[in-house]
Amino acid sequence: MTAAMDHFLYRDGALFAEDVPVAEIAATVGTPFYLYSTATLLRHFTLFDEALNGLPHLVCYAMKAASNQAILKTLAQAGAGMDVVSGGEYARARAAGVPGERIVFSGVGKTHEEIRTALTGGIRQFNVESEPEMAVISEVASALGVEAPITIRVNPDVDARTHAKIATGKSENKFGIPISRAREVYAHAASLPGLKVVGIDVHIGSQLTELEPFRLAYRKVAELTETLRADGHDIERLDLGGGLGIPYTRSNEAPPLPVEYGALIKETVGHLGCEVEIEPGRLIAGNAGILVSKVIYVKQGEDRQFLILDGAMNDLIRPAMYDAWHDIVPVIEPEAGVEQTAYDIVGPVCESGDTFARGRMMAPLVPGALVAFRSAGAYGAVMASEYNTRPLIPEVLVRDDKFAVIRARPTFDEMINRDTIPEWL
Ligand SMILES: *Cc1c(COP(=O)(O)O)cnc(C)c1O
Repeated sequence: MTAAMDHFLYRDGALFAEDVPVAEIAATVGTPFYLYSTATLLRHFTLFDEALNGLPHLVCYAMKAASNQAILKTLAQAGAGMDVVSGGEYARARAAGVPGERIVFSGVGKTHEEIRTALTGGIRQFNVESEPEMAVISEVASALGVEAPITIRVNPDVDARTHAKIATGKSENKFGIPISRAREVYAHAASLPGLKVVGIDVHIGSQLTELEPFRLAYRKVAELTETLRADGHDIERLDLGGGLGIPYTRSNEAPPLPVEYGALIKETVGHLGCEVEIEPGRLIAGNAGILVSKVIYVKQGEDRQFLILDGAMNDLIRPAMYDAWHDIVPVIEPEAGVEQTAYDIVGPVCESGDTFARGRMMAPLVPGALVAFRSAGAYGAVMASEYNTRPLIPEVLVRDDKFAVIRARPTFDEMINRDTIPEWL
């Protein structure tokens, strides 16, 4: 079994999500829509949880990857904690039934209000990203007469070797404090009222496809743990972030498996007697979701064929934003040996950036045919917008032979009525 394993497979020539034909859901819900598999979500959470067997640990799902309440509840019921990066995510986690002591609060710009809400509602720890933020947490906690548990996010200055927009562990990135200043900043933290230092936090980036950058970062964290303990700090918890990549194509990418990542964690920090937290997002949700879309037109250009879909960049922005590749497969499996055609696969939005793939080889498709974007579960629905006044597309969750709409498509009236007209108009 590999991390690539999911529950979207062909059966007798038709794509299924677990035990439900994708075409049946499309007929009920209409396209485009996101479709998630409960079994895949749980499988990936469990892979991480088991990879850390033998260490005291908590897997905190980075819910910014996919934050529908039904997804959060599925994972929370399996024992997941949550990594949140905003007051809105904190509220979502609590609404899904996650207790405060299983929520860690990350993010570079936590506001007074967010800090107060988390301290009042319960929080496992704040991952502090700067000294000004540390001062504010100290102030808010003191005013409330409580102690805020904190780790400080260190920036280990390692190259995560991933896309520039999702690398966070180099000194030029905005995240954390330079590891070279850690002793000074921890000393400052110890001097402030209302703070309880509990550990160290690190997160070097997303979609990492090798273990080496993690190894470099975690070694530095292990060294720092010993230095800080010698300075008299209680370092009892290490938050090692998220970032393990997923295979976006079946062919040429094989990121490390959670079990190998877990072994690396044990090797680098296992001897320290710390509780370990990890914050995977993409690997839990990415291959647990597909985007289902319909061909509207097949258009012959001068030197190429365009497949125009009803899904667009506002629904799935990863190709436009990160030059991301998604495997795109027909929902009805083509006959074996059918000759393939090259398509530029695009959406209807008025931007050339609304292109999902160029020169993609596929069996011929006709208007009305359904296609599925694989690996669309993470950073898909959550990054969608209503650009071009296109409704946010529905999210659907499958479990065994059942499916449920977990976010409905808004009507045009609902969208329009969110605007308000000033009295002078
Ligand atoms: C985005 C993020 C994660 C999750 O990263 P993935 O690549 O989705 O695993 C974890 N921790 C922090 C602090 C993040 O910003």
